[in-house]
Amino acid sequence: MSKDKVDCKNLSLTELENLFSGWGEPPFRATQLLQWIYKKKVHHFNEMSNFSYELRQKLSAFAYLSSLKTKKIQTSSDGTQKFLFELEDGETIETVLMPHRGRNTVCISTQVGCRMKCKFCLTAKQGLIRHLKVSEILNQLLEVQLSLRVASCAPWQSNRITNVVMMGMGEPLDNFTNVISALELMTHPHGLELAPRRITVSTVGLAHKIAEFGKKTNVNLALSLNASSNEVRTSLMPMNKAYPIERLLEEIRSLYKNNKKRKIMLEYILMDGITDSDEDAYRLVKLLKGFPFKINLIPFNSHSDLTYREPPLERIDRFQEILKTHDIFSFIRWSKGRDVSAACGQLRSLHPTQS
Ligand code: SF4
Repeated sequence: MSKDKVDCKNLSLTELENLFSGWGEPPFRATQLLQWIYKKKVHHFNEMSNFSYELRQKLSAFAYLSSLKTKKIQTSSDGTQKFLFELEDGETIETVLMPHRGRNTVCISTQVGCRMKCKFCLTAKQGLIRHLKVSEILNQLLEVQLSLRVASCAPWQSNRITNVVMMGMGEPLDNFTNVISALELMTHPHGLELAPRRITVSTVGLAHKIAEFGKKTNVNLALSLNASSNEVRTSLMPMNKAYPIERLLEEIRSLYKNNKKRKIMLEYILMDGITDSDEDAYRLVKLLKGFPFKINLIPFNSHSDLTYREPPLERIDRFQEILKTHDIFSFIRWSKGRDVSAACGQLRSLHPTQS
């Protein structure tokens, strides 16, 4: 890789068309290039056999195709795999593959670190180091896909990525432009061609970005609510001071009204003695009255670096029961990959000097 060269994986279809037109080539070369990258998953221009020798030489002189370096793969007893990837500047990110009943869900990162300061999250402790580029977001999927192909799969197991969640390191809406461009290539027929209903972006609730998100993409949205009062939410998620619960729910409701096919989920972390009381459940019922949002209840993943604890099982059941008696559908989502710190809120980078 040369610093002067352009990474083709950072370019949209239109930008690639302009590049080829500038060289006197027909615009369909851009579609062919995307197909080589995202369908045939080649790593070098010289493998692109429907391009002339001269065109391949021109591409090699001007551009390159980036990839991620896999530093480590940890496998949990439940089959979850956590990948530690090194970026071109030596920073690292984590990505998680969760195989389950024939589906392969990949949880990807959108930033190195994060500046949202959520108190229950290990990524927050790093602060924001930088946004991920479009190529770095997409390359996580390409690398995991490669490892799925290489792994010997039982015949009933899928070796394709079926679902993507942007719930790894970083706040996706804080890296808005790159995330939207990556989503375009993820769903494009000549790109990774994943159905929008199989992709979910998770946000802590950057309310000022939600309407624009609705206009630019059809993928699903998950809002990390995590508390039933502004007081508790602000203490856990300082972002709430700028965008309190009522404002967030207003934005989410408009998003739903404008596109009822888009799935909108609420994520609620149950923390012992903090967010798991009967009063919390009743307040939640009141807040969500009249809207068909499903709630994922996530028992907190205890970690030695954080003081919060998972509630006892009976508390979790009681909380869900209150929601159920008020016709609110909820699902208890036990995080996967806890034994390799791959569960929600447990991802973080290695410092470039660590190995
Ligand atoms: S929970 Fe998400 S948004 Fe909050 S600090 Fe962690 S990575 Fe950032």
